Amino acid sequence: MKILVTGGAGFIGSHLVDRLMDAGHTVVCVDNLYTGRKPNNSKWAEHPNFQFIEHDIINPIDIDHVEQIYHLACPASPVHYQADPIQTAKTNFLGTLNVLQLAKQWNARVLLASTSEVYGDPLIHPQTEDYWGNVNCTGIRSCYDEGKRISETLAFDFHRQFGVEVRVARIFNTHGTRMLENDGRVVSNFIVQALKGIPLTIYGDGSQTRSFCYVSDLVEGLIRLMNGNYIGPVNLGNPGEYTILQLAQTIQRLIDPTANIVFKPLPQDDPQRRQPDISRAKFHLGWEPTVPLEEGLAKTIAYFRDYFADH
Ligand code: NAD
Ligand code: UDP
Repeated sequence: MKILVTGGAGFIGSHLVDRLMDAGHTVVCVDNLYTGRKPNNSKWAEHPNFQFIEHDIINPIDIDHVEQIYHLACPASPVHYQADPIQTAKTNFLGTLNVLQLAKQWNARVLLASTSEVYGDPLIHPQTEDYWGNVNCTGIRSCYDEGKRISETLAFDFHRQFGVEVRVARIFNTHGTRMLENDGRVVSNFIVQALKGIPLTIYGDGSQTRSFCYVSDLVEGLIRLMNGNYIGPVNLGNPGEYTILQLAQTIQRLIDPTANIVFKPLPQDDPQRRQPDISRAKFHLGWEPTVPLEEGLAKTIAYFRDYFADH
């Protein structure tokens, strides 16, 4: 199949590209390299079935005879999506609109990479897909949270109005190899800090929770969703729930038990608790994560050790 991956030079996107190329598909990767890196696709750079197009998805794009589109283009780390919030909002609205129009033109199936952030600071726990969320529409996270909510709306409206085949994944916190050193998200921050011998920065008192999925599990879920019959939305994440303090202590133990921890102010609107209910994914996709937290962390740590040895 000819498959377009927007955001395919990024963290999750590049792992997805690897899986699709390994399966023998023709892959077109569209990315503006905002948080993505060309070396993430270097394995395929010369391959005849791979094409990289540097392009900002807020502008329309013309790609012939595409059959499937995985739409991942959007910065995912709060540090990066808040650096230019209007660009983030445009990426989510105009970018998704452009992708859906392309899908309509070629009768392609689109998978939207949405997020657990559509639940905001959730008032129900764990989060099920039928929960409508508790999102601030004027805060510093809104460009992303509300951006993804309007992306979902567009996807379902293109489905209802034009019959476009859509799939909507709500991705929960994911980590793994190829995260950027300056990504800014908690797993990479703690690992980079511990490896550099600087204190681990906990925002707030560390009692807030998150659930961390390893990237290979997540990519498997995306591929199953794309190729199955269930439209979604469907939560994809690891249901293991940890406080940020527990995560810091785990990474401390795995890298340097003498590492210091410092406490910094909690950013505005930081969700207090987050844990996916993955019953839908289990039922409709036969999917559940297989990589436990410490095993995944060990892989991410090994990646950053190698990275620092080379840089
Ligand atoms: P990432 O920042 O590594 O990847 C995003 C990619 O999109 C990058 O390569 C970036 O350069 C590209 N991009 C950004 N804006 C673009 C634009 N306007 N035009 C073209 N390309 C653009 O992030 P990631 O963690 O790989 O996330 C991928 C997708 O998954 C995102 O849509 C994100 O919202 C979603 N998601 C990720 C997580 C997670 O924990 N990693 C959680 C929920 C949702
Ligand atoms: N966090 C932290 N220290 C850091 C980075 C993040 O304590 O160096 C916290 C952050 O405030 C949040 C949690 O870890 O409560 C997860 O943050 P991340 O940015 O990884 O993802 P998100 O908030 O989008 O779930």
